[in-house]
Amino acid sequence: MNRDIRILGVALSPLAGPEDALAGIRGNIDAQRKTYAVAVNPEKICAAQNDPRLRDVLNAADLRLCDGIGAALAARLLYGQALPRVTGVSLFFRLVAAAAENGWRIFLLGASKESNDAACRKLTADHPALRIAGHRDGYFEDDSAVIDQINASGADVLFVALGSPRQEFWIAEHRERIEAPFCMGIGGTLDVVSGKAKWAPALFRKTGTEWLYRLIREPRRWRRQLALPRFAWRVLKARLTPTPPSRQSC
Ligand code: UDP
Repeated sequence: MNRDIRILGVALSPLAGPEDALAGIRGNIDAQRKTYAVAVNPEKICAAQNDPRLRDVLNAADLRLCDGIGAALAARLLYGQALPRVTGVSLFFRLVAAAAENGWRIFLLGASKESNDAACRKLTADHPALRIAGHRDGYFEDDSAVIDQINASGADVLFVALGSPRQEFWIAEHRERIEAPFCMGIGGTLDVVSGKAKWAPALFRKTGTEWLYRLIREPRRWRRQLALPRFAWRVLKARLTPTPPSRQSC
């Protein structure tokens, strides 16, 4: 498997699984090659339909993870291809473990100050060898000062938890100036680490129904999750019409 899999105009990286993603990232960090990853789910694919800038930012990422079960099912339906899920949150935990093992310095940007501080404490407790080069909350106005802080820290890996799509735009806009070889948007992951939010239990993760768990816990997000049926409908339509799938939209 080596060609991107294009779903409604968004190209997913044809990764064999989380280890494959990690191996690629490791190679880039070792070579000090600047790259960034985005986790792509049906919600982002749908948002990208009405926002060409978001679509371009997603497609410009070096690694586009198949984060949602919906995207994996769409790959099977449209191309008959199995595309393993690599969720952003699970890759985050693998990367943190790899950072502790390899001495990579990490920077954690985003979430509230309390959540960010608590996440740092938890990660250090879980991985005593982890080198947190720097961290700060995600409520700031001066991008330039934050980038200076990240660069001064000498971080190898920058995690950006500003929520979507802000974090994707933020990374793409500043990728050139940010010196850390690897950057990745991690949404609400720091809230999961700090305990402010709960990671979906294993049953939901295994069945790819984290969205259902989140809907049950945070019903106010129902409007955002309307993207899921819209996405399913568009994928079905793409499957049934002769128009190339990449031209279909939500
Ligand atoms: N956040 C932030 N700065 C902002 C807006 C949001 O740091 O200006 C953080 C927020 O505190 C939370 C995360 O971004 O920790 C967004 O979490 P959510 O689960 O909503 O992520 P999404 O589903 O949008 O990826």
